[in-house]
Amino acid sequence: MTAELETTVRGPQAYAFAHHVIDEMEKAGVWPTRLNFELWLHYLDDRESPLACEIDRLLAASDIISDEVSERLAAEFLPRGRLSEQIRDAGAVLDRELASVAHAIAKAHKTQADYGDTLADASNTIEAADAASPLKALVGGLSTATKRARRETAVLEKRLETSNKEIARLREHLEEVRREAMTDALTSLANRKAFDERLEQSCASGDAPLILAIIDIDHFKRFNDTWGHQTGDQVLRYVSTVLSRFSGGNRFAARFGGEEFAILFPGESAGTVLAALETIREEVASRALRRRSTNDDLGKVTLSAGFADYRPGEGPAALLERADAALYASKRGGRNRVTRAPALENAA
Ligand code: C2E
Repeated sequence: MTAELETTVRGPQAYAFAHHVIDEMEKAGVWPTRLNFELWLHYLDDRESPLACEIDRLLAASDIISDEVSERLAAEFLPRGRLSEQIRDAGAVLDRELASVAHAIAKAHKTQADYGDTLADASNTIEAADAASPLKALVGGLSTATKRARRETAVLEKRLETSNKEIARLREHLEEVRREAMTDALTSLANRKAFDERLEQSCASGDAPLILAIIDIDHFKRFNDTWGHQTGDQVLRYVSTVLSRFSGGNRFAARFGGEEFAILFPGESAGTVLAALETIREEVASRALRRRSTNDDLGKVTLSAGFADYRPGEGPAALLERADAALYASKRGGRNRVTRAPALENAA
């Protein structure tokens, strides 16, 4: 976010600017989602920026800015900056907190050292004293030093308490940023990055059995071209809700990219996985979807799937390739079906 934009969204013009952003979003015909709002903030902030040029190009070509397009725009023009900005800010606050705690502790040490010196002086003087009056002055000095040390300690405790709260808040924020970075914004499923990490870990742990399934929406492009990208996005969300419903427990479902999804099934037999995938396929195809704006019948949504059993020692790329080959066997076989990759003994 540029400095001017940062000032605008936190200044007296903030609400007027936000209304302007919403108006412009409505004119462009985009949904008032959080991501679109952020894109449009940047778009209107700098009409010469690469993001603004790309949005102008899409609008001039009357391209629909679907959630998928918004995600692409954000991925290309915003997120790395956004993410690193948030993480950098979080890191800077953490650094400040730690520096301030270190300063408070150093100060307390100094006070205590002074206190020690005062006591040492007192005992030396008492030893040498022969009258009551200097002793009295010494006791007074001691008492002042004690009070000062107490005050410093109380300040230190307060500082530490505040710092702990700030650090807890920061951890939460970083966790949120991390979660966001691992989630697909349109479907709320895990994204490709999260999936790649999980697959890598699962293969590295070598724990068998492990099954990987790849699922693809049949003729999604045709569907998108006929009904538009916004309806296409709804179909992606619909399929995702069904996948989530059947992916509880140890199963891990993700949007793999475009209209492809993946599920990892650790600790399950091929028979159970086949049954689960068939249920998902039937469930998705069982519903007659309607286009929300016109109530048109959208027809059936069908899925093709392929799955492969992990072979001990195999890397993620090889497992993916075999699951993908099984998916293509489903496509070649007429779609709307599930295929298992050949088991080891039958493999070429
Ligand atoms: P969504 O539009 O955000 O809807 C979320 C949930 O609200 C739906 O979950 C459903 O339980 C309920 N819901 C929303 N609109 C209606 C409605 O008009 N009638 C009924 N009976 N319930 C409604 P569900 O069914 O799992 O759908 C998840 C997502 O899949 C929806 O999110 C939407 O994006 C998409 N979807 C599902 N069915 C249709 C459909 O017939 N047409 C379109 N265009 N999208 C659909």
